[in-house]
Amino acid sequence: MSSASAAPSRPAGGLSLTENTENYILVDIGANLTSKKYSRDLDSVVQRANNAGVQKIMVTGTSVQGSRDALRLTRLYPSVLYCTVGVHPHDAKSWTEETEGELRELAANPECVAIGECGLDFNRNFSPPDVQLDVFQKQVALACELQKPLFVHEREAHSELVSILESFGKRLPPTVIHCFTGSAEHAAKYLQMGFYIGLTGYVWKDKSEDGVRRMLEDQTIPLDRLLLETDSPFMFPNVRAAKVAQHVKDRLSERALQFLHRYCTFQRNEPCSLAASAEMIAAYMGHSVYDVAMKTTYNAVKLFGLSG
Ligand SMILES: [Zn+2]
Repeated sequence: MSSASAAPSRPAGGLSLTENTENYILVDIGANLTSKKYSRDLDSVVQRANNAGVQKIMVTGTSVQGSRDALRLTRLYPSVLYCTVGVHPHDAKSWTEETEGELRELAANPECVAIGECGLDFNRNFSPPDVQLDVFQKQVALACELQKPLFVHEREAHSELVSILESFGKRLPPTVIHCFTGSAEHAAKYLQMGFYIGLTGYVWKDKSEDGVRRMLEDQTIPLDRLLLETDSPFMFPNVRAAKVAQHVKDRLSERALQFLHRYCTFQRNEPCSLAASAEMIAAYMGHSVYDVAMKTTYNAVKLFGLSG
């Protein structure tokens, strides 16, 4: 993919990172590109992402079939798309005796860089909580066995999630709490357990006293534990909202806003919006977007082994 010219430094994975006022490189660690919403124009979606600096995208697997579809997409865009393989808590009720074997087989492919999206969602309970607990536990065990990173979803299930993960102790592989929307207290616990925090454009709408936005302002989440994602087609970053501080709006580049407003909507967010989210997150943290881009890209490349 395109690489910039000035003074590149080369981290693991051969990406060229450079501090250029026009350009920085990002990795979207979670995009649901198997969604029907992209079936007509996936090529353009991936190309646009690349033009916006998003050089690598991890396609989220949320069921056996979804994981198979995600793996198939990675074959169409080698070294650009990677995937996770797992069963989302909403789909936990679809788990059968064959599921574990099917996931193990899919996960053996080098394009699969994490087990997930798996976890607990007691907010919506689309699958019964006891089934979610059981299915999550099985996938954590699989990630431990394969020593593949764990891509975790958690909504209103913090303490249950922590106790399952703690029960695996030192066997636990590197773990990311994706699309984190919880409290500072929960983030502190996850960080203390050594986990990474995945942030999306959700930051725009967080107005809680001790939520994600406050944590960014207080620099509670260290850059070496931060990962960025769009969770497309969800989590459209509505950076024009009144809730977004003016000093943050002032830091958004023309280029990032163009990608956001030309191609992304609440109905269908795209990975190309990651630039706007990265700039918003950097502004709340008081860091330069180049720093945030470079560190989060390095984290993703290293953690998931996004080589080539
Ligand atoms: Zn999720």
